[in-house]
Amino acid sequence: MTKTMILGGGMTGLAAGMASGLPVLEASDFSGGICSSYYMRPNDTHRRSHCPEDGEAYRFEIGGGHWIFGGDPAILRLIRTLTPVKAYQRRSSVYFCKSDRYVPYPLQNHLSYLPEYRTPALQEIARPKTGFVTLQDWQRQYFGDTLCDLFFDPSISSIPPVCKTPSPPRMPTNPPSI
Ligand SMILES: Cc1cc2nc3c(=O)[nH]c(=O)nc-3n(C[C@H](O)[C@H](O)[C@H](O)COP(=O)(O)OP(=O)(O)OC[C@H]3O[C@@H](n4cnc5c(N)ncnc54)[C@H](O)[C@@H]3O)c2cc1C
Repeated sequence: MTKTMILGGGMTGLAAGMASGLPVLEASDFSGGICSSYYMRPNDTHRRSHCPEDGEAYRFEIGGGHWIFGGDPAILRLIRTLTPVKAYQRRSSVYFCKSDRYVPYPLQNHLSYLPEYRTPALQEIARPKTGFVTLQDWQRQYFGDTLCDLFFDPSISSIPPVCKTPSPPRMPTNPPSI
């Protein structure tokens, strides 16, 4: 008899499990794969799946911040059926050290902060899209050469290699109010 199951409880496996009703087997202790978070107390390297009750922990996201289209009411409804959802606003910005200025994130939605780049950036974003193969191609198609040269390419090429042993977290610095 053939038994069908889904290997891996990341977003793909969980979605396939929901759609098919088949069992999902996950190798690690927690589901979510790249799209999951963990907590660490200051000066401790132990990863926790939940925030300790006293709240004294930093939260890290394995794949960095994720956009899961929470602005779409249908997606938000689905997420609410899966887990309690707490909404909060995060203020974030990109710091350009050469010009010493902060631009709210996402950059492409705040081009008024980059007046000298605004016109070419908008023209490039409005161009019809063709096929793409690599992430870099996709970025160039969607954000244009101007924003890629200015921000997207340097930000991706400067991501450091993943450390095997995480060092104790440092105090985060909140971006200033803008
Ligand atoms: C930096 C970064 C930012 C991103 N930002 C976004 C974003 O903003 N929006 C967005 O939509 N996507 C984003 N993505 C992409 C998104 O995270 C991934 O496409 C998605 O999470 C992948 O899910 P997955 O289930 O395919 O794989 P994974 O998340 O890798 O899950 C695979 C799971 O399978 C398990 N597994 C592996 N081998 C076995 C085995 N033999 N048996 C059982 N289990 C096994 C693993 O433990 C893991 O839990 C981002 C990715 C990165 C890296």
